[in-house]
Amino acid sequence: MERYDIIIIGTGPAGVSAAITATIRNKKIMLIGSKDLSSKIAQGHTIENYPGLPSIAGADFGNALKKHLENLNISIHEDRVSAVYSMGDYFSVQVGQDMIEADSVILATGVVAGKPINGESELVGRGVSYCATCDAPLYRGKDVIVIGYSQKEEEEARFLSEVTNSVTYFQVYKGETHLPESIKIVQSRPSEIKHVGDKNIVVDAEGNTYEADGIFVLRDAISPGQLVPGLKTEGAHIVVDRNMATSINGCFACGDIVGLPYQYIKSAGEGNIAALSAVGYIDKKRLAK
Ligand SMILES: Cc1cc2nc3c(=O)[nH]c(=O)nc-3n(C[C@H](O)[C@H](O)[C@H](O)COP(=O)(O)OP(=O)(O)OC[C@H]3O[C@@H](n4cnc5c(N)ncnc54)[C@H](O)[C@@H]3O)c2cc1C
Repeated sequence: MERYDIIIIGTGPAGVSAAITATIRNKKIMLIGSKDLSSKIAQGHTIENYPGLPSIAGADFGNALKKHLENLNISIHEDRVSAVYSMGDYFSVQVGQDMIEADSVILATGVVAGKPINGESELVGRGVSYCATCDAPLYRGKDVIVIGYSQKEEEEARFLSEVTNSVTYFQVYKGETHLPESIKIVQSRPSEIKHVGDKNIVVDAEGNTYEADGIFVLRDAISPGQLVPGLKTEGAHIVVDRNMATSINGCFACGDIVGLPYQYIKSAGEGNIAALSAVGYIDKKRLAK
């Protein structure tokens, strides 16, 4: 299997910055995220505090980052990482349905807004999934619930409706949906996920219950503790030192996910540090062999 030097997860300013530095330092990287980079860049109306780019619109800032990646021939692998496993000497990263290996991992996944739904964390792998592409085959001909936190999750719901018996879609955002009539839309925020008897998961939302064989919770980011088993976290954040090293050897983190203040320039700066630390970690490991 092909092995990367560094897998960088997240395409906000932190991940993009890490990818730029790691590439300049000649490392073989895989940058995983979205071709649109980050919804938080697109939403930025006018950014007044990024040095060298005064009063820049979020969209223009995004285009400048994309251009910088292009100039260095860095491509974005558009997918979602659903798990990162430390194997001791290397990492095994689940990307869609594939497992990809790397010597080091940089987590730049942005902060997860809000808490997980009650019961969600306990039922991961026992009916709760974060990846339609990976787990849809498990629910062929069965009933599923999709909890979509942004409009782009509608594509996942459409895909699931082609594979499963039925899809109930919780729309946890404002605006219109563009879903086929076969998908039942519920416009409320689920309060709890639980297992009842041998059948199924039940979602309580505003007093109603909905049953299904599985639940897909689809949001921009999953909590870091769920993404990387064994990772030390504090609230919504990953614990890091000044080198952006996490509690797991070879795993670094940067940007909003490591704590306040939530700012573009802080994220970009930390992405740079995380990349340099990952480069140092890899070089030291190879010298010792
Ligand atoms: C409306 C708005 C306006 C703002 N204005 C300003 C401003 O003027 N100045 C300022 O300094 N800051 C501003 N901010 C804050 C700024 O947007 C954030 O601090 C910054 O985007 C954080 O960058 P990041 O790279 O850490 O994470 P993010 O930008 O959140 O990017 C994280 C990326 O990781 C991806 N990702 C997450 N999980 C996975 C996974 N499992 N697999 C693959 N990809 C994954 C996400 O899809 C996303 O692309 C604003 C924020 C908002 C919401």
